[in-house]
Amino acid sequence: MTARDERTDLSVIREGVARLCARFPGAYWRELDGRREYPQAFVQALSEAGYLAALIPSEYGGSGLDLAAAAVILEEIHRQGCNAAACHAQMYIMGTLLRHGSSEQKQRYLPRVADGSLRLQAFAVTEPTSGTDTLALRTTAERQGDEYVLSGQKIWTSRAEHSDLMLLLARTTPREQVAQRTDGLSVFLVDLRALIGHGVTIKPIRTMMNHATTEIFFDHARIPAAALIGAEGRGFRYVLSGMNAERILIAAECIGDAKWFVARGAAYAKEREVFGQPIGVNQGVQFPLARAFAHTLAAEAIVQRAAASYDAGVDCGIEANSAKLLAADASWEAAEACLQIHGGFGFAEEYDVERKFRETRLYQVAPISTNLVLCYLAEHALGLPKSYGRASAEAPGSGSGSGAGAGAHSAAGGPISE
Ligand SMILES: Cc1cc2nc3c(=O)[nH]c(=O)nc-3n(C[C@H](O)[C@H](O)[C@H](O)COP(=O)(O)OP(=O)(O)OC[C@H]3O[C@@H](n4cnc5c(N)ncnc54)[C@H](O)[C@@H]3O)c2cc1C
Repeated sequence: MTARDERTDLSVIREGVARLCARFPGAYWRELDGRREYPQAFVQALSEAGYLAALIPSEYGGSGLDLAAAAVILEEIHRQGCNAAACHAQMYIMGTLLRHGSSEQKQRYLPRVADGSLRLQAFAVTEPTSGTDTLALRTTAERQGDEYVLSGQKIWTSRAEHSDLMLLLARTTPREQVAQRTDGLSVFLVDLRALIGHGVTIKPIRTMMNHATTEIFFDHARIPAAALIGAEGRGFRYVLSGMNAERILIAAECIGDAKWFVARGAAYAKEREVFGQPIGVNQGVQFPLARAFAHTLAAEAIVQRAAASYDAGVDCGIEANSAKLLAADASWEAAEACLQIHGGFGFAEEYDVERKFRETRLYQVAPISTNLVLCYLAEHALGLPKSYGRASAEAPGSGSGSGAGAGAHSAAGGPISE
């Protein structure tokens, strides 16, 4: 890790993010939540301040920060009661473009993503029938001359209505014709603006929290062949290579949530009086919060360790997945303790606890479900047999039966974004 100067000092970054977030208090999020409206002003402010370009190298106009710094940005957003889900994907999905895109693609898009004039917020992987089994996805991209023709459907493609560009994983070679199960999928950088109404339909899905998620239908939509990133058929590997960063960044958001819940819970326990004394004098009130606090500290240490390994270029699949698991559990435990401490008021919108409670629940399922993280750890850390992907591994062309995560030692297979 490089020495930190004023620009990269984590406490300076944290203070800057906190100042920005102070302009977007609970009332702002509450109002948007009620209307399920995208937090435009917040995303705009983050873009203008350069935070969403943290990981873009300075040669393309970004800040060129490391993952540890990016994690601090997302953690602080959540610690302040805001929600980075509206824009966090920009941080990690541009990595696929950066690592595997051509220099022409990088020159063309990254400076504009960095200065906020183009949004790269959407990542279309999950499909209704494939779910966690990413290799079973069915959306096809068929090469026709100097174009690809897209057909199929994605689900849970978040922020697609608010993004100019979308990273798409689609099948370019039929499953039964590939030598290895992980072959045959390709990644495309799709310019959504040109496609709406021309073979692409986006339908919002209303969810329990304000997440701007959608389903996308491709009906013979034509994109230029130049939209392909890297080599045809290698897309699954490209996407997997970004997994650890995603896990660590999402874990950092969970830590921010956990800290928010613990702080709110403690403040309320001191102030709320019942039976003539603050409820916080009761151990039954203190203990769940104290336990959540300790679990948050422990999870935070693993998140930081995973980020440090990532920044040092060390394989960190086990640490990144453990970080995601522990941080998501810590935030959920803290959410539960905070809500309980608030009694009936925990359910009242004006306290923001119920909103944050709904928001943090997502991390048990997305971007990867807790079970699939455990599957990864069982296999890669403990050397136990791979428990998933057995049925589909028997598909023709499956070779030695390598499943989604196999061959990718750095990250769990399965769905990747949220
Ligand atoms: C709000 C939201 C936003 C999202 N945003 C995006 C996005 O932007 N882009 C994108 O591509 N995807 C996105 N997703 C999809 C998300 O990544 C998936 O929902 C998630 O990975 C789980 O997949 P699934 O819903 O298909 O569940 P399924 O695969 O149907 O699994 C259902 C349950 O079964 C369990 N399960 C399945 N297989 C096993 C097994 N072998 N062992 C043990 N348990 C198992 C899972 O853990 C899960 O709890 C989003 C989802 C949500 C809810």
